[in-house]
Amino acid sequence: MGRNYYIAGNWKMHKTRAEATELAKALVSQLKDGKHQYLVAPSFTSLEAVGAVVKGTNIRLGAQNCAAEEQGAHTGEVSVLQLKDLGVQTIILGHSERRHVYKEDDQLISKKVKLALKHGFEVILCIGELLEEREAGRAEEVCESQTIKGLEGISAQELSGIVIAYEPVWAIGTGKTATPEDADAIHAFVRKVIAKLYGKDAAEKIIIQYGGSVKPENAAQLMAKENIDGALVGGASLKTETFVPIALFS
Ligand code: PEP
Repeated sequence: MGRNYYIAGNWKMHKTRAEATELAKALVSQLKDGKHQYLVAPSFTSLEAVGAVVKGTNIRLGAQNCAAEEQGAHTGEVSVLQLKDLGVQTIILGHSERRHVYKEDDQLISKKVKLALKHGFEVILCIGELLEEREAGRAEEVCESQTIKGLEGISAQELSGIVIAYEPVWAIGTGKTATPEDADAIHAFVRKVIAKLYGKDAAEKIIIQYGGSVKPENAAQLMAKENIDGALVGGASLKTETFVPIALFS
């Protein structure tokens, strides 16, 4: 199929600089012979420290969010220019916690996606339905809408800087994982949405990660599915004992 697996760890609001540095050092050493693509996304406060550790390794440096503006009077926000200055390569946007806890809508997410791509970042665009939306049979509709709106105004060329992460909200941090079959069905559907927007080749190339309670016990089964190209891992990315086996799955 020609797509590489891409395993990303989202450390959310965890770890001091010392703790983040220690984890990053351990990952650099334990993943150095890993065959897949890797990324860690520490809190803003640890980006510089972790960046120094992962620089020149096979682990990319990611941020968990960015502001929708380049600079200005935006108290508490962090700009793409500041992230670039820290060596960040990838920005996670549209995470369900940003959408549902911090009320970011598709319009704001789209603005951030455009700005991040303009500044040369790779973007991991997260999409995913709520439990009530799945139960109402609306999972595809929600994922289609979030994909279309998140990619609005993005050219076919720019699409190469986009990774999609399908994260059903009901599976994030809950211990409930989508079955590999259910996840693969949505991934295949999203690929069709991409094909309609950008053509079949682009749809074949785009990496679609799965996220939602990925653990060592379920990672290989999920990633064995044709349309699942990696994982965005939250809780299990906080310890080498759980992240390394996921990252080294074969
Ligand atoms: C996430 O936050 O992106 C995530 C998938 O979290 P968890 O693995 O803890 O469900």
